[in-house]
Amino acid sequence: MAPKLSDCLFCKIVAGDIPATVVHDTDDVMAFRDLNPVAPTHVLVIPKRHIVGADHIAAEDGDVLAAMFVAARAVAAADGVDESGYRTVFNVGAHAGQTVPHLHLHVLGGRGMSWPPG
Ligand code: AMP
Ligand code: ZN
Repeated sequence: MAPKLSDCLFCKIVAGDIPATVVHDTDDVMAFRDLNPVAPTHVLVIPKRHIVGADHIAAEDGDVLAAMFVAARAVAAADGVDESGYRTVFNVGAHAGQTVPHLHLHVLGGRGMSWPPG
């Protein structure tokens, strides 16, 4: 079952109740460095509005999704990985390793990455 929004870790970061290293902040989205980075650039881009995950996106969420990818692009450029390339990932559910039930786009860069993912 989805947690109450007041219990949501990333909603608390949006509210400023939990500290984060914020690298991008607009009316609709926020981006902050992952607490346990797995690449030199590892940033999470989230909508400020609570959406549980990529499997809960509705057609009317198009604008916020576009804003997330625009933010990802800005983050990649600011970290200097836009030319070398970067990976954007939404994990959905247990098999993909989703641990936080608030939509977040991983932006990973700064090293070569294999495919398929592990
Ligand atoms: P996922 O496994 O796709 O749900 O990604 C959740 C990510 O959130 C993981 O990479 C965690 O390292 C990261 N994370 C968890 N808590 C925090 C936090 N307080 N600040 C920043 N990143 C976090
Ligand atoms: Zn939330």
